Amino acid sequence: MLGDWSCATTLKLESKHEDFEIYQADNYEDLIDHPVEMADFTRFEFEVNDTPHAMTLTGQHTTDIARLRADLVRICQYHIDFFGGDVPFDQYLFLTLVRTKAYGGLEHKKSSSLICSRKELPTEDKPEINPDYTRFLALCSHEYFHAWWIKTIKPASFHALNLGRENYTEQLWIFEGFTSYYDELSLLRTKLLSPEQYLTLFAQTLTRVQKSQGRHKQSLAESSFDAWTKFYQQDENAPNAIVSYYTKGALLAFVLDIEIRNRSNDTQSLDDVLKLIWANYQDTGLEDDTVQKVVAHLTQSDFTKFFDDYLYGVSELPLKQAFAYVGITCEFSHKKAELSNIGIGINKTQEFAVISHVLEGACAQAAGLYVGDKIMSIDGIKIQAKDLANAIDSYAEDSTIQIGFFRDELLSELSLTIANSKPTFCTLSIADNLTKDTVKRQEQWFYHD
Ligand SMILES: [Zn+2]
Repeated sequence: MLGDWSCATTLKLESKHEDFEIYQADNYEDLIDHPVEMADFTRFEFEVNDTPHAMTLTGQHTTDIARLRADLVRICQYHIDFFGGDVPFDQYLFLTLVRTKAYGGLEHKKSSSLICSRKELPTEDKPEINPDYTRFLALCSHEYFHAWWIKTIKPASFHALNLGRENYTEQLWIFEGFTSYYDELSLLRTKLLSPEQYLTLFAQTLTRVQKSQGRHKQSLAESSFDAWTKFYQQDENAPNAIVSYYTKGALLAFVLDIEIRNRSNDTQSLDDVLKLIWANYQDTGLEDDTVQKVVAHLTQSDFTKFFDDYLYGVSELPLKQAFAYVGITCEFSHKKAELSNIGIGINKTQEFAVISHVLEGACAQAAGLYVGDKIMSIDGIKIQAKDLANAIDSYAEDSTIQIGFFRDELLSELSLTIANSKPTFCTLSIADNLTKDTVKRQEQWFYHD
């Protein structure tokens, strides 16, 4: 091993030598399920349910390790308790690469590979929980939850994976959607977040889904099945054509959770669905309709229409009603100075805005703007990318403005009549004057375990 470098992995250690270590994998699948970090990293350890856990941080950072360790213990303990104290690994390792601006994660059976931005790690000078640190904790929570929910419980077809090709499944709404729902909800249930902080976070997911016009066209089941060919190969029309099984999957999980509570007189919840599946489907895996069958069994109620509408169809999720059931007000409004109000997205890296997508049905499309158009002026006055949203915001609705732009190097101009598209910015807040029953349901949803 070079200088101060060490090696971190959950691969089986066969032997340790003065300058090197030998690790062993049972087979190829085992090998690629155990990432290996070799670097000069920070490493800290903790135990949860007598199981050794560790995290490594590679890259420059000034993390408050004691705090991060304490918060991870709470999250890990929550997930272990959620699945009845069963721990599907003999050790767990979070491998974290710290960069200036980066984000991502990949789950494994005994570890996860995380990439985060330096500002997302907690430091002693910022003792309050903030959105950046919350994002990192949610990422850890998400990948850790996967140790149960995709690495152990998985689609039946994943029990005999062919690693030589893509493996298709329509169940990603279950494995990524439910995981995305619980990764944040667990931060509330462990009291790392207050209800208000949690609702602010969840509202961002609603905003993202509401902005996607693709939710009217692609069902969640299709979104899952087409992940290889569409979600991971997005083009400029993606916001009009596809929907994310992560974000909309999390919303379906929530609506399903509330529907189960409602139909079972608050005796069952989505938690019980996962627990029942955990107890019974580790060996066989899930068929495409297993969740539906378990939900029907637990509630003694027919959910066929529910899944036809919201999983296999593109009906709008009944979000407002679902939130009302637990005493939360869900409202959509326009956010000021957002280009999505007129239905475009832009690339801001250059001086002038280049349109990256045009949303269907919005006024920009009606005016004739295309992806790739470089916007140069409004009413004959030069406009830079950074000022475009505010400039358009300064006009009243129904105003007609002249947009000067380059298309394929040719200078053109067109008229755009400003009409706000449907409001997409979501706010969730605890409603006033709730009945005793609603308060009880809210508490059960917030903290039930
Ligand atoms: Zn995931």
